[in-house]
Amino acid sequence: MPEDLYSLSAKRVWVAGHRGMVGSALVRRLEDENCEVLTAGRDVMDLRDQAAVHAWVGSEKPDAVFLAAATVGGIHANRSRPAEFLYDNLMIEANIIHAAFENAVEKLMFLGSSCIYPKLAPQPMREEELLGGPLEPTNQWYAIAKISGIMLCQAFREQHGCDYISAQPTNLYGIGDNFDLESSHVIPALIAKAHTAKTEGAASMGVWGSGDPKREFLFTDDLADALVYMMKHYSDDTQINVGTGEDLTIRDIAEQVCRTVGFEGELAFDTSMPDGSPRKLLNVDRLTAMGWTAKTSLEDGLRQTYDWYLENYVNG
Ligand code: GDP
Repeated sequence: MPEDLYSLSAKRVWVAGHRGMVGSALVRRLEDENCEVLTAGRDVMDLRDQAAVHAWVGSEKPDAVFLAAATVGGIHANRSRPAEFLYDNLMIEANIIHAAFENAVEKLMFLGSSCIYPKLAPQPMREEELLGGPLEPTNQWYAIAKISGIMLCQAFREQHGCDYISAQPTNLYGIGDNFDLESSHVIPALIAKAHTAKTEGAASMGVWGSGDPKREFLFTDDLADALVYMMKHYSDDTQINVGTGEDLTIRDIAEQVCRTVGFEGELAFDTSMPDGSPRKLLNVDRLTAMGWTAKTSLEDGLRQTYDWYLENYVNG
């Protein structure tokens, strides 16, 4: 284990977006660090409101910030609410990063998204592919906002020497996921659909698109562990990919979800729905070289996610 560049010990650490899937995993992970976790819900401030964010950061004075707040959603949500995906995310990141600078925050971690890379980037995608070609149209709004956030961190590092870093997670799933079929990502959608199909004794369940696109999936608690690791061990301007280094087709993930849930019917592919990006596997060599690798298997992660769904959506 390399020596820490930055210590979280005894620090005031703000997790912006603590109610989200990533933020809540970070709060759980930070319990193992000797730090004080700060949070502020939507009732306390709207992160799109510059004055509110500056006032809160000015009075709470965090030492470190994990910027895990964002307006997020799956392929359908991105296509149908482009203004929210671009405007909300630009405002949230600009306000928090600027307020961190004004209040001398020591270290800030920004989160990107694998859709920031060009649609046809060579796979697995290396960090250097950023801005190398046109984006995938279904999630370009979110991608542009996230690219701006990464570059804002780089700009503050270059102009003011701020220790702001970015992590670049692959597709995420896990505890606290969004299971609403209109706005969710593929894994929670498939879990909810398989559960309903099983409960109703249906012969088949719907899966969007052709089933051919490939996706890489990281369990969110693994991401939280990687973010804390990078906060301690990384200080540079390149956004660092965080993933498992392996991907599988939507057909394969649907079959694996059905095994976890115990649905034995058929998969019915709906090709009127978009496939989106054909493939977006991250190259994780940089993070591996830093000494971090993902620990949770897909089987184990799906089981924990399904258990959480049963407890909170079905029996909750
Ligand atoms: P993306 O990675 O940004 O494309 O976001 P998603 O996780 O929403 O979708 C990943 C892939 O899963 C796409 O090819 C979708 O068409 C496919 N997919 C299959 N069934 C579903 C579903 O029920 N919901 C979602 N969101 N995607 C699905």
